[in-house]
Amino acid sequence: MDATTKTAETLNQAIDNASSHVIRSTLKKISRDLPDAFEMISNSLLVSEELVPGPDNSSIKDSAESEDSNDQDKPDKKCSKRLRERYAECPNCEQEFDTTTNTSKSCRFHPGVAQMDEDYFEDCYEERRIPSDSEETMKEYPEAYAWDCCKGEGDAAPCMTDWYREGVPAQKMRAS
Ligand SMILES: [Zn+2]
Ligand SMILES: [Zn+2]
Repeated sequence: MDATTKTAETLNQAIDNASSHVIRSTLKKISRDLPDAFEMISNSLLVSEELVPGPDNSSIKDSAESEDSNDQDKPDKKCSKRLRERYAECPNCEQEFDTTTNTSKSCRFHPGVAQMDEDYFEDCYEERRIPSDSEETMKEYPEAYAWDCCKGEGDAAPCMTDWYREGVPAQKMRAS
């Protein structure tokens, strides 16, 4: 193995092990100092708004069409190529997603709340110790939970399919 290959290997290792803070400041420095890198990183992390599909974007298109027909003073939409962040985190399934490949079937989640049935533990355990209501408990005893959206147990497959969303989570349906 020659020296360059060895260095590249060590560098890859360093990238894998560096904290996100170090990686962020390194990327910012590179994109500031090298115009080519600025373009490459922009192409990876930014996207033109019109390339982002979504439930909200279809309404934007509708209003743009109506503007074309009755409002001549508006600037040409094609001139304003607005860039936005390409990756986002969906508040409903808590996954990071690529906004350019989002579809109405991308996100799967429970819109409701998982309710713990304390009776389950009282029936099962002589000492009547009820574990705290937490994600860990739900993972360990899914049969002690019921989703109020679909009545499925704690580990039931998500009952709702939707676009990945940005910003506010879907309104939780409360049983009480
Ligand atoms: Zn989601
Ligand atoms: Zn559900």
